[in-house]
Amino acid sequence: MSERVDAVVAGAGVVGLAIARALARQGREVLVLEAADAIGTETSSRNSEVVHAGIYYPKDSLKARLCVRGRQLLYDYCASHGVPVHRLGKLIVATSDSEAQALDGIASKAWANGVDDLRPIPAAEAQELEPALRCTAALLSPSTGIIDSHRLMLAYQGDAEDAGAMVAFHAPILRGRPTETGWSLDVGGEDPMRLDCDLLVNAAGLGAVDLAGRLDGLPAGAVPTAYLCKGSYYSLAGRSPFTRLIYPVPEHAGLGVHLTLDLGGQARFGPDTEWVDRIDYRVDIARADGFYAAIRRYWPGLPDGALQPGYAGMRPKISGPHEPAADFRIDGPARHGLPGLVNLFGIESPGLTASLAIAEHVAGLVRDAGRG
Ligand SMILES: Cc1cc2nc3c(=O)[nH]c(=O)nc-3n(C[C@H](O)[C@H](O)[C@H](O)COP(=O)(O)OP(=O)(O)OC[C@H]3O[C@@H](n4cnc5c(N)ncnc54)[C@H](O)[C@@H]3O)c2cc1C
Repeated sequence: MSERVDAVVAGAGVVGLAIARALARQGREVLVLEAADAIGTETSSRNSEVVHAGIYYPKDSLKARLCVRGRQLLYDYCASHGVPVHRLGKLIVATSDSEAQALDGIASKAWANGVDDLRPIPAAEAQELEPALRCTAALLSPSTGIIDSHRLMLAYQGDAEDAGAMVAFHAPILRGRPTETGWSLDVGGEDPMRLDCDLLVNAAGLGAVDLAGRLDGLPAGAVPTAYLCKGSYYSLAGRSPFTRLIYPVPEHAGLGVHLTLDLGGQARFGPDTEWVDRIDYRVDIARADGFYAAIRRYWPGLPDGALQPGYAGMRPKISGPHEPAADFRIDGPARHGLPGLVNLFGIESPGLTASLAIAEHVAGLVRDAGRG
């Protein structure tokens, strides 16, 4: 005999937990199934922990809309739930004339997205703000901040559980079949079982494409190709001379090797970009030379030997190295034709910032599609 629950969320990362919270607060019975033994052990704990303003993304894209909306929701949420966050601001810096021209395009995109506090500043003003910096021009983004992502996930989990949701660990979803009223799922792990549900939300992050491929009945084209783009971080030994986040002009697959600070003031640099074909979170010490070169373009005073290997994360990409960057894909029944299913693909940066807005969006899709 199989168990039955109203809504299943696959994955207890920051996005899955935010969705579970939103659905439970809509009055739904929610079970989060997580393959690992704890919340947020994958991408949600392997990122820059930056609250992004919404600067870089094409106008009207989900990334732009959900980042700008999510950032506002997130700052309010942190204030009301005691989640540590610091709106310390960031500088995007050009180190050549061609990069200075690129800043104009970045600023135009940001303004089109509704990031109205971003402003260009001359090199002298940037260097007054951050004396260790070298640049030819800069953009100042006052609404960028840093956040304690683990405390955020604990708060989402607490809210979800207060609204009646449950989180089960060691519970990977192995496969699923559509039923007359929703989905029938095979759940593996320590306590394998068959579980029926009306709604399945696939928020499995790096595993989302694989899981969707194991759901029967999805039409061709409903499951994108997954690519992995690794980002490694190095931490700075000693005190940071910077008090804001420092970002270079972005590169194709990421935002460039930037300086970010944690809430304790410790500086780290990254992530770089490395297209890989499997998940391996080890930081290759051979990449250090590339970090020194990238950082010294805006911080020439970086001392030799100051960088120590930190950690790495994997961007869950759905566009390849030679393709334009894909938008978030949040596919409901209107997109794939199967009732009771929402697939989230390509939830890379700014997914942490956007988490509350993504949850709001998913809750809206589900409400619009009705309960089946
Ligand atoms: C290097 C890097 C830097 C980033 N920096 C930032 C930043 O500064 N600011 C920002 O806003 N965003 C940033 N992001 C993006 C952000 O980290 C992600 O968008 C966010 O963490 C994604 O959360 P998630 O819940 O979708 O995925 P995850 O955190 O990966 O969670 C998915 C969960 O699903 C589970 N799972 C997988 N398969 C199954 C299955 N079959 N059954 C059950 N469970 C399953 C996994 O174990 C995992 O716990 C960054 C990302 C990267 C890679």
